[in-house]
Amino acid sequence: MAGQGKGNRTVLITGAGRGLGRDLARQYAQDDWRVIACGRTRPTQGFEDGVEFQPLDVADPDSISDLAARLAGRPLDVLVNNAAIRSDIGGLHDFAPAEFLTVIRTNTLGPLLLARAMRPNLVAGRMRVIANIGSRAGSMAEGLLDDYDDDYAYRCSKAALNMISAQLAQDLRVDGITVLSLHPGWVKTDMGGDQADLAVEDSARGLRRVIDCATPGDSGSFQTFDGVPIGW
Ligand code: NDP
Repeated sequence: MAGQGKGNRTVLITGAGRGLGRDLARQYAQDDWRVIACGRTRPTQGFEDGVEFQPLDVADPDSISDLAARLAGRPLDVLVNNAAIRSDIGGLHDFAPAEFLTVIRTNTLGPLLLARAMRPNLVAGRMRVIANIGSRAGSMAEGLLDDYDDDYAYRCSKAALNMISAQLAQDLRVDGITVLSLHPGWVKTDMGGDQADLAVEDSARGLRRVIDCATPGDSGSFQTFDGVPIGW
């Protein structure tokens, strides 16, 4: 179950070539975990020792099936659904329907398909945690309170991901799988930009702590990287 620490643990991280995913991979590897770092292309800058690269395009269901076939029989402790995109132009008057659907396919359908595909691997693991990296921007209760974000597709994709986390928490309880929806904060990455208030390593460290301490009682919760509950 969750919270038993490191050593012989395996984590799979999507979008691990840069940003938050890359730092999560680095930190887990430094802490002696086996890391399956997934990405569309192998990063030119090498990974830490102990990190295995696996090609994965989360927007492509066939790519998810191929990954599941390659990983068949391998126990997995933690799945981090991290990969995501924003729209190039997301505002009310200018967003493009095709791009809207690409954002949904990447940020919402991808994590759901991967969770379903990795279910046997998680059941074979010990910690059995799925961490869906969501966003406060997808919260109906809090997402509109302060920061302005006019990317309709992104907001909708993360709101829908929240429902997926809640529904998966119910469906996978029978397997002892804990499902979390986690907001990483406003993080200095390509997506978050230079003005963001959080260093990537601080966000990743906080997320890891929340994941490591998760218990089945936390399944279906929506929290920040430092463990503060967020309204749905
Ligand atoms: P980045 O834009 O820096 O990195 C995104 C990662 O996702 C890249 O590795 C990218 O790979 C990968 N990715 C995108 N599309 C696909 C795809 N189809 N298949 C596989 N990988 C893909 O984002 P962050 O690191 O900042 O964001 C990480 C997570 O945190 C996301 O879920 C994001 O929504 C969330 N978040 C981030 C915030 C922030 O302030 N940064 C705030 C709130 C939430 P590639 O190199 O191939 O493009």
